[in-house]
Amino acid sequence: MKSKKDEKQFAVIGLGRFGSHIASNLYRMGYDVLAIDKNMDKVQDFSSEFTHVVQADTTDEKALRELGILNFDVVIVAIGEDIEANIMTTLQLKEIGVQYIVAAARSPLQIKVLEKIGADRVVAPERDMAQRVAYNLASTNVMDYIELSKEFSIAEITVPHAFVDKTLVESNIRAKYNINVVAIKRGEHVIVSPMPTEKLHEDDIVVVVGTNEHISGLENLK
Ligand code: ATP
Repeated sequence: MKSKKDEKQFAVIGLGRFGSHIASNLYRMGYDVLAIDKNMDKVQDFSSEFTHVVQADTTDEKALRELGILNFDVVIVAIGEDIEANIMTTLQLKEIGVQYIVAAARSPLQIKVLEKIGADRVVAPERDMAQRVAYNLASTNVMDYIELSKEFSIAEITVPHAFVDKTLVESNIRAKYNINVVAIKRGEHVIVSPMPTEKLHEDDIVVVVGTNEHISGLENLK
């Protein structure tokens, strides 16, 4: 299949749950995806799913070079259970000089190690999803939540009652609550970068960015 987006090439290492979902999503978005797994059964299961699916042990530098791993713009290390293979693979990719390495971690210590050895981005899929679901369940008005850094987050919040029928300026949301509204979801309609004069309606969902502390201040408003 001809790739729609010729410019960016991805390689995904490890076809467990996380790796196979990442590879599927990128491929569906039109990117070229090379998927690599050392387990031949996995390679056969996914053989027709992505651009190329190959069998290799990625802790082996020679095998990585033979796959032409340097030609890929982004390499995602999605080996979960075998921590040593995950770390060794990341290290080899770094040594070879891969441009952008994303590594998946399962524990805080693994996050630290992967950052130290030079992964450009470390993701913790289980932790992040657990956090999003917990926020969603614990709060009646938080619909979704994404942590941008330890301090800042983006949250989707049903509009507090106190703000209904007020414009963004009148709600004082920025001045008093230190929160920026980046979008308003109104049914099927999304208003991106709303004007200060935009009036908030009942049942609106506001997408806000701010510190975690300021966002929780807003969550507790009725
Ligand atoms: P998750 O749900 O976190 O993705 P999982 O349990 O589904 O985890 P893992 O057991 O973490 O999957 O394994 C991911 C894949 O990585 C497996 O298919 C495994 O064969 C592959 N893998 C492990 N070590 C290597 C390696 N050295 N080289 C290439 N692939 C590897």
